[in-house]
Amino acid sequence: MIIVINENTLQSDIDEVAQYLLSNGYQINISNNKDLTISAVVKNVKDSPINMEKFSCIKEIKPILAKYKLVSREFKSEDTIINIKDIKIGGTEVIVISGPCSVESLDHAMEVASATSKSGAKVLRGGAYKPRTSPYSFQGIGAEGLSYLRQAADEYNMLVVTEVLDIRDIELVSQYADILQVGARNMQNFRFLQEIGKQNKPVLLKRGVSATISEFLLAAEYIAIEGNLNIILCERGIRTFETMTRNTLDLSCVPIIKHLSHLPIIVDPSHGTGRIDCIESMSLASIASGADGVMIEVHPCPEQALSDGDQSITPLEFNNIMIKLKEVSNAIGRYI
Ligand code: PEP
Ligand code: MN
Repeated sequence: MIIVINENTLQSDIDEVAQYLLSNGYQINISNNKDLTISAVVKNVKDSPINMEKFSCIKEIKPILAKYKLVSREFKSEDTIINIKDIKIGGTEVIVISGPCSVESLDHAMEVASATSKSGAKVLRGGAYKPRTSPYSFQGIGAEGLSYLRQAADEYNMLVVTEVLDIRDIELVSQYADILQVGARNMQNFRFLQEIGKQNKPVLLKRGVSATISEFLLAAEYIAIEGNLNIILCERGIRTFETMTRNTLDLSCVPIIKHLSHLPIIVDPSHGTGRIDCIESMSLASIASGADGVMIEVHPCPEQALSDGDQSITPLEFNNIMIKLKEVSNAIGRYI
């Protein structure tokens, strides 16, 4: 619900309403645009019967119409900016995440982190646990990969984002990662999303391969309702009838999601197209479309990559893209 407060209400009366909602399990957002409003959402309405009539400072109560409540612009009209160490995701700065599909060794992680951080990437990516379509494919090097990522990121002053594949790995991955990645295949693993929502770490939620925008936002809502609103959405392509690309990158979802939700959104053109010849143009288009960042797979030697070599670019190619990405960012009043 959205509670509209009468003009000239005392701060102490507003605080009283807010406190009452919080003590009844509501998550709230106070905003002061035209009117002062308190948006409030509770997970289980029946368990928390509340009486708002006792507050004389309330002018009106309206429902939040979106199916996804906490992540909607109705709940919070201002953009969410996620602060991690000294990096802000969702603000004016465009954030670039780079790294291999899978982390392969310490030297490998160091080499990619060194090169891509010099080009301006702020976050190091890499899978230690890989969701592979075939059980016979390389599954990732596991826990030691987490440590390599952390060491490389610390050496080059980057953040770490890496995928958590399973509830059983959340605790371990959280010890190394700054951002927990929920992969496309887990986007509708609802018990998993609930567990992720109980964590005290920002989340990168990738769009499911067949998820509508509405389903994508509802997946984010599963995380948010557990208390974790530090969610970065990631468009990574959806499955269509097209066979020239690995997936069809749905860039139109960026302005639509920006309209519907206050959460930051980034784009992954690597999985979104599966083609190195599309990475540059789709990265530039992502930023032009209003995305808050891009995530690009980079490997020092793509032909030897243990996974996704076909869509990985070299550090040199990455650097060339970064030069153009900076220009596009500047052209739309942002920066890298
Ligand atoms: C990845 O980013 O490594 C990955 C596996 O992505 P997705 O879940 O989008 O397929
Ligand atoms: Mn990959």
